[in-house]
Amino acid sequence: MERTFLAIKPDGVQRKLVGEIIRRFETKGFTLVGLKFMNVSRELAEAHYDVHRERPFFGSLIQFITSGPVVAMVWEGDGVIASARKLIGATNPLNSEPGTIRGDFGVNTGRNLIHGSDAPETALHEISLWFKDEELVNWAPEIKAWLYE
Ligand code: UDP
Ligand code: MG
Repeated sequence: MERTFLAIKPDGVQRKLVGEIIRRFETKGFTLVGLKFMNVSRELAEAHYDVHRERPFFGSLIQFITSGPVVAMVWEGDGVIASARKLIGATNPLNSEPGTIRGDFGVNTGRNLIHGSDAPETALHEISLWFKDEELVNWAPEIKAWLYE
């Protein structure tokens, strides 16, 4: 089954949205397989956002993501990568549809609450960047027969 990397950013943590955000992926039907609450080193932040290194917002993005704790997670399910991106919403929360996380709780691109991997290759790369293999939990939720035909 497919896996994706999600991280509740420091604004989501500070605004006490951790439970609300996790709830959305849980109730949708995805399975949590990795979870840690952590401060992010500059090294990890720069590796994670390496594709944006040349962009004008890179400095402020690294400053922001290292400014307070984040909730790093791995979620599993059929099509979870694309579906999580839909649940998260557009990068600029002013353009995110109501009902999405960013659409419901954000007003600014630099404070858009949550990260989600954008493709299978980036998901694999980000999961290995943030989690050791032994930190991921392989388990089969009992509810599975009621989620999948
Ligand atoms: N970002 C920003 N200003 C911008 C574009 C992006 O601060 O003009 C930040 C924002 O936090 C965004 C992250 O950089 O979530 C990564 O940008 P990307 O285009 O990959 O958006 P995402 O995949 O998070 O929707
Ligand atoms: Mg991105």
